[in-house]
Amino acid sequence: MRFFNTLGRSLQEFQPIQPGIVQMYTCGPTVYNFAHIGNFRAYLFEDVLRRTLEYFGNKVVQVMNLTDVDDKTIRDSRAAGLRLPDFTRKYKDAFFEDLKTLRIEPAEYYPEATTHIPEMIALIQVLFDKGFAYQSEDGSVYFSISRSAGYGQLARIDREQQRAGVRINTDEYEKDAVADFALWKAWSPSDGDVKWDSPWGPGRPGWHLECSAMSMKYLGKTFDIHTGGVDNMFPHHEDEIAQSEAANSCKFVNYWLHCEHLTIDNKKMSKSLGNFYTLRDLIAKGYTGAEVRWALIGTHYRSKLNFSLDLCDQARGTLRKFAGFFQRLRTLKKGPLGKEKARELARGAEKSFADAMGDDLGIAEALAAVFTLERTVNAALAANEFESEAADVILEQFRRFDRILGALDVDAAPAGEIPEEILELARKRAEARKARDFRLADEIRDQLKAQGWLVEDTPGGIKVKKA
Ligand code: AMP
Ligand code: ZN
Repeated sequence: MRFFNTLGRSLQEFQPIQPGIVQMYTCGPTVYNFAHIGNFRAYLFEDVLRRTLEYFGNKVVQVMNLTDVDDKTIRDSRAAGLRLPDFTRKYKDAFFEDLKTLRIEPAEYYPEATTHIPEMIALIQVLFDKGFAYQSEDGSVYFSISRSAGYGQLARIDREQQRAGVRINTDEYEKDAVADFALWKAWSPSDGDVKWDSPWGPGRPGWHLECSAMSMKYLGKTFDIHTGGVDNMFPHHEDEIAQSEAANSCKFVNYWLHCEHLTIDNKKMSKSLGNFYTLRDLIAKGYTGAEVRWALIGTHYRSKLNFSLDLCDQARGTLRKFAGFFQRLRTLKKGPLGKEKARELARGAEKSFADAMGDDLGIAEALAAVFTLERTVNAALAANEFESEAADVILEQFRRFDRILGALDVDAAPAGEIPEEILELARKRAEARKARDFRLADEIRDQLKAQGWLVEDTPGGIKVKKA
């Protein structure tokens, strides 16, 4: 495999530190609102990356942090009149639900900033002892970028721009503001009851420091991959590198991968511009998690993706076409085209797919291989050339593709059909009625109803339909 490493701006052969095990850190959400689908484009890119690493036989140890204390969470919890943990709880829960809806594989660890304050204080202490940190007259502790020889290496920031003594205390600031940044922010009245004790007085950690402390705790001082959206590159990731390398005197991360923005009318989708859809907005419009997933993963991660509802409609069309295709394969009658020919087709598609994904997640070429196999097999089906064993080989190949794509549902009943487990329940109910166990029959009817299905007893037998 090779990936485009932001550090060095080049395609590089991927070599994990420990063969077969990949340690990866992903900057997670700030839980002050529902994540929007721009955020989910980044998390889906990371999921495709993770699944690709697994496809190539690696075990992945992934950490995704939850930023549950920063300027925004404090500001909005106070506006809502809630204590910080009560306020962020709702958005944490919603985030995990959304990950499931989008079929994002869970990370191994989801550390929260507020439960890692001692680790953060310990890291600041090391930076202090090594002379990289200082406390200013405002009580906050800052990282001195002039002490950090490599500062600017990731974002290729011009060292000329660095102005001695300029300090930044807010979590978000302008791209060109190259300045000392806060490691520990002294408590101010606008923080309300959000504060922790530290050797430098009451306060809270800076955002950048959170990720350095938590990645180190779970992945060690040096690890393989760090990811995020391009907007994380500077200052967030640059500052993570500066702190971690200053504290540990060794390289922080070997490969940095950044995902381009999801845009809307060619402007970055963001909460502050208000031009966003949450996943929930799209589900409310009737799209499924698989459709949104398909719409968001189909463009290479280093290209901008301009979002529109058309994209979801196209995803729906494509996934329905595949569902029909799988159904035809499952219900195939005999034909002359045997298993061997199917194996050959599958092997060719597999090779193109794997080569493409292994080359910096080349999704366009990978999907081309998927569509080509579908077209070739469809043509053979139309000519009645397929036999059922050959169909199994093809279905198995699509299951393999779906280990990365995660949206094809090779074995699901196509939309409009009654799922087998529902039919099974309906049959059990009919048996219960026959045995005059009306209590059980009613229970099963309620169970079906809860899942959105109605059963009717007609003279011609049982009928099941959508409630
Ligand atoms: P935040 O909650 O703002 O820290 O963002 C969480 C993740 O989403 C980060 O990796 C961001 O870089 C990413 N992100 C934010 N907006 C977009 C967008 N419009 N397109 C792609 N990724 C984004
Ligand atoms: Zn981070």
